[in-house]
Amino acid sequence: MSENQLAKLREQVDQINLQILELLNERGKIVQAIGEEKKKHGTNRFDPVRERESLDLLLKNYDGPYTEATIKHLFKQIFKASLELQEIDYEKTLLVSRKAHPENTVVNINGETVGDGVQRFVMGPCAVESYEQVREVALALKEHGLTLMRGGAYKPRTSPYDFQGLGVEGLKILRQVADELELSVITEIVTPQDVELALDYVDVIQVGARNMQNFELLKTVGSVKKPVLLKRGLSATISEFINAAEYIMAGGNDQIILCERGIRTYERATRNTLDISAVPVLKKETHLPVAVDVTHSTGRRDLLLPTAKAALAIGADLVMAEVHPDPAVALSDSLQQMDIPQFHDFMNELNAFKERLV
Ligand code: PEP
Ligand code: MN
Repeated sequence: MSENQLAKLREQVDQINLQILELLNERGKIVQAIGEEKKKHGTNRFDPVRERESLDLLLKNYDGPYTEATIKHLFKQIFKASLELQEIDYEKTLLVSRKAHPENTVVNINGETVGDGVQRFVMGPCAVESYEQVREVALALKEHGLTLMRGGAYKPRTSPYDFQGLGVEGLKILRQVADELELSVITEIVTPQDVELALDYVDVIQVGARNMQNFELLKTVGSVKKPVLLKRGLSATISEFINAAEYIMAGGNDQIILCERGIRTYERATRNTLDISAVPVLKKETHLPVAVDVTHSTGRRDLLLPTAKAALAIGADLVMAEVHPDPAVALSDSLQQMDIPQFHDFMNELNAFKERLV
């Protein structure tokens, strides 16, 4: 074969490639239109019966030089790409997704903002135990100019015999201390029925890890005008986490902070495994601010500082940790809470670290 002939054949192949490309584009657009129709009717995007019929039709009409297996493989790839195309379009429609809303959502908590580029802290005891205990921690927070205080009034515990929290009494203590010292309060609410009551006492409603897929609770907090801190479930994938946030936003509440708090893995050196890369993934996929809870993810006091530094370095908007005046006698999470002097060291180190980051 002469050089000239070879060049000609290659030219033909290039032309055919361009035709295939054009046909693929055309096909892709039709597939997107089908995706839209399926969405309207709530039909599943993957349809194995339809795929089988398409493959059968192709093979029945096939009479070329490739093997049937090759043709099947090539078309399977096209089918797969089409399904992905429909899924990308679907993602775009999630209200929490960055594709739907490219700008960052800034959560406003009584004038204090989370998600505007300034990295903040939310600190406080695991559980509200008494007025004195909360006030002592709150005074320590004030020394560092912090304005967000956490503390659990309803404690979802593994054992029904463990301290379950002070309930409404705990909410009242939090509110009283917060009002006296001009702080904002974030606390977990565990049932939809308690949400309305909580509105009078709290500034941010926390949905805990164990309730991340309590859909009725998500719908209820989605229907109120109060910021929500949503924690990642113990074994939740990022996609499940994002969909849980979608429940809240679909109800009309866009004031949501996502909180990575460690996931359950085979590793036992820490209480959970802090999925630090979830922070940039969530910030890329959604427009919501992202918090990191270093206490419940590590379960270890000695790891609070290094993991908090990691959270700041990777771009978390908010870092959460627990502080108790006397952790040894705390009614919950006594191993991992900092005492007040440790908290001061922790904040001093983190503030110095923050300076070095900029
Ligand atoms: C908490 O923050 O008090 C708590 C119980 O955390 P989690 O839901 O992440 O376990
Ligand atoms: Mn705790």
